[in-house]
Amino acid sequence: MRFLPMTAAAVLALSTLQLHASPCIKITLTGTQGGPPVFQGQAGSGTLVQYGDDENNCSAVSLQFDTGRGTTQRLSMAQTPVGKLDAVFLTHMHSDHTEGLPDIMQLRWHFASAGPKVDLVCSDDARSPAGHVLSCRKFAEHIGDPLINSGEIAQRLLENKKRLPGGPADLLNVLSFKPAENPAEVWSSGEVSVSAVGSRHIPGHASYRVDTPAGSVVIGGDAGNDNPKPPRESSTSAHVEKLAMGADVIVHSTIHPVMGPDKDSGFPPPIYFRQSTVTDLGAMANRTGSDYLVLTHLIPPMGAARQGPYKIPGGGLTEADYKLAAINGGFLGNVIVGTDLVSLRLPPK
Ligand SMILES: [Zn+2]
Repeated sequence: MRFLPMTAAAVLALSTLQLHASPCIKITLTGTQGGPPVFQGQAGSGTLVQYGDDENNCSAVSLQFDTGRGTTQRLSMAQTPVGKLDAVFLTHMHSDHTEGLPDIMQLRWHFASAGPKVDLVCSDDARSPAGHVLSCRKFAEHIGDPLINSGEIAQRLLENKKRLPGGPADLLNVLSFKPAENPAEVWSSGEVSVSAVGSRHIPGHASYRVDTPAGSVVIGGDAGNDNPKPPRESSTSAHVEKLAMGADVIVHSTIHPVMGPDKDSGFPPPIYFRQSTVTDLGAMANRTGSDYLVLTHLIPPMGAARQGPYKIPGGGLTEADYKLAAINGGFLGNVIVGTDLVSLRLPPK
């Protein structure tokens, strides 16, 4: 075989190809509702992180962090059918972060029983001081139980014998880990690495960081400070701060300071104190040198007159109220006040 010298056109074509193949990361909020209430159709908490290049619209790898109510619908709007998810990561075993997973898995079982399985990355069983156990493993094992018990799984197996006999649980591959104070890798694929730390909220709560050649993002979940109430330096988690050092983007659940016990919302102080306030997150994002702070799981939701049974002192909050609270913490980067399906791409187009 004879090698020909490359023509200028060929060089140009090659460089265009390389340009097209530049890596990118895309972060999409699949749900922004804070806690179990419902408000104007907001989906439950979740963040889709995708990595790839220009040619595949940054979506060669699709990772879902938390799966609140309505995640399947939001994913379909984000052009990411549930069959495309490579892995699901859970921050903790609260229904507002998990109740969309049975729906995701049943849909996959219907149409993609041949596989591949979905990695479910979450904490090992965590025992609370009160004696009960928070168990992602059992949640996964029993994910199809209502449908098995209603007889639906047996009925649908008769319709299509290629479906897995154990129901949707057969499609989950649980990869559990013990959340620690220092970041440790819990999942990887090619150029994508996910690490985690343990953080206080309920036993087994974990926060995650995704590192890719196009950028890095931290998913804080509902993390709060190890010290459950003031006096303390911050409501944010020191472990999450370690994890977030130098990360481009921080996505974090938050509560607005207006719900604090020094105001008169009536909101229970222990629940207020276990969340990270917007102002303290602004201060943390400043210390970690991050470019973007994405606020999600907003308590209260923007525009809501009440947070469940509790009133909002001064009336409903606006996007500007949330931004101002983050700026008051000293953050000078970009604040995105989360709404369902808001999306951020790095590098920007
Ligand atoms: Zn929550």
